Amino acid sequence: MKMSKLGYFSEFLLFPPLVLVATLLAFRSSQPPAPLTWTVVYGAGLVAWTLLEYVLHRVLFHHAPVLSGIHDRHHQSPQDLIGTPAWASVVIGLVAIASPAWVALGFDLGTAATGGLVTGYLWYVFVHYATHHWQPRRDSYLYRARLRHARHHHLSHSGNFGVTTALWDHVFGTAIEASAPKFRRAK
Ligand SMILES: [Zn+2]
Ligand SMILES: [Zn+2]
Repeated sequence: MKMSKLGYFSEFLLFPPLVLVATLLAFRSSQPPAPLTWTVVYGAGLVAWTLLEYVLHRVLFHHAPVLSGIHDRHHQSPQDLIGTPAWASVVIGLVAIASPAWVALGFDLGTAATGGLVTGYLWYVFVHYATHHWQPRRDSYLYRARLRHARHHHLSHSGNFGVTTALWDHVFGTAIEASAPKFRRAK
């Protein structure tokens, strides 16, 4: 749905404190997790987000009912702030991510995995916003993300599904390279 700037970024106010409180609870328990294990699982959650981002965009945003309609609006008006309301993100995060992670890994490491995923998600929201609203410095990470995502918008909706990283587009053969003829013309 189309949102105000505050609404669009309210997840950045809501998610970090929730993750922080859960992390403090984990480390203040009678049997706190080993910091290294916690960090490795957090990192795994972060990497898992990049794959989830790819799958969500490729499969759900472009093919699922309702979601594909919302995503179509983003493709038509890329600068409109279309996102998920923060309350819905929190509910989805608790039901679909945190609860299964707590069941599978226990509270401590489940929180680490969820924290990694949530960090990746917020990074994605920020990078996606920047690709449509900022003019990043040439050859910077955000510049490459902007070029990559512009190819998804303007060259083909069948590739460059990754916003934060090109990794999974390369793994699954959906990377749209800079040498595509229309892109050269557009430069
Ligand atoms: Zn976009
Ligand atoms: Zn798309």
